Amino acid sequence: MKRRHFLRRLGTGTLAAGAVLGAGCQQQKTAEPNAVAPAASFKPVKWKMVTTWPKNFPGLGTGANKLAELITQMTGGRVQVKVYGAGELVPAFEVFDAVSSGTAELGHGASYYWKGKSEVAQFFSAVPFGLTAGEMNGWLYYGGGMELWRETYAPFGLVPMAAGNTGVQMAGWFNREINTLEDLQGLKMRIPGLGGEVLARAGGIPVSLPGGELFTALQSGAIDATEWVGPYNDLAFGLYKAAKYYYYPGWHEPGTTLEAIINKQAFAALPEELQVIVRNAARVINQDMLAEYTARNNHALQTLVNEHHVQVKKLPDAVLGRLKDLSDQVVAEIADKDALSQRVYASFRSFREEVIQWHNISERAYLNARAAG
Ligand code: CA
Repeated sequence: MKRRHFLRRLGTGTLAAGAVLGAGCQQQKTAEPNAVAPAASFKPVKWKMVTTWPKNFPGLGTGANKLAELITQMTGGRVQVKVYGAGELVPAFEVFDAVSSGTAELGHGASYYWKGKSEVAQFFSAVPFGLTAGEMNGWLYYGGGMELWRETYAPFGLVPMAAGNTGVQMAGWFNREINTLEDLQGLKMRIPGLGGEVLARAGGIPVSLPGGELFTALQSGAIDATEWVGPYNDLAFGLYKAAKYYYYPGWHEPGTTLEAIINKQAFAALPEELQVIVRNAARVINQDMLAEYTARNNHALQTLVNEHHVQVKKLPDAVLGRLKDLSDQVVAEIADKDALSQRVYASFRSFREEVIQWHNISERAYLNARAAG
């Protein structure tokens, strides 16, 4: 039934007759062998994708491009996606509204940019001292996270999908050494999401800026410090030219999930087969982006250290310990806002507790063993 419906919508001429109708069918004899669908036999759905990233920015922007290409290729051109960088159609931080209102059908960004719309949305990008990339995927796909994310975005007419992950980020670029928590006092730092809330508790001043504005803000002194992603992306922005110290680890973003958001009506208008393709294209990009970051961060770190003489420093354990305590407070307070937030927090916390048990004797034990060897 679904298949007939699908064919009716497309027109049977869109597909090679032999492939669709099956061997032994009488109609196959009248069709030309290997007949190719005429391009005009279906009306392609044309989608605009707006992004929070500078056009073609390595990893993030190119990942969004790849998602658009994959959707177009995998649907055989039945859904055609055109990508707009930040500021081309709408500014970076208006992506959520643009897709919600239908100005664009598709968006690519990160859910912590939308805390002004929904504070609990931040759980689906990055939680300080929360889940790593592999753990986020475990929670989202097999731990109930994706269902809660859909529920969170439903009132905005949006369908969310995980569509990229940076892995563990860096703590950021500073022009002063961070030896104690007091060194964060009065520090004006670009740091999004829950990490920003934690910085505020530590006496700092968090600023939210889209990536494309970071270098100028840091170089001009409008901000004292910034985090962005990791070596691959931070090298691309030239942040080493504006700050002396490059701190790790990215306690605030341990495995940030990027998102694809789709206008609910636009998604519902697609035949089920095309919805499946779009979902799986996002899933491919979710995995692909992490692989790219893992491969390219290594190389970029060497360039930063060896060619640009960046001083890479670890945040002192005592500072990380205080930040962790503050993070626990901030996260618990947000979770207490409403019933949905409580459910998201309960799901996230229970997954985190369980996965820590497992990863203590797998990932962590292995990495320790490898380091010791
Ligand atoms: Ca970041």
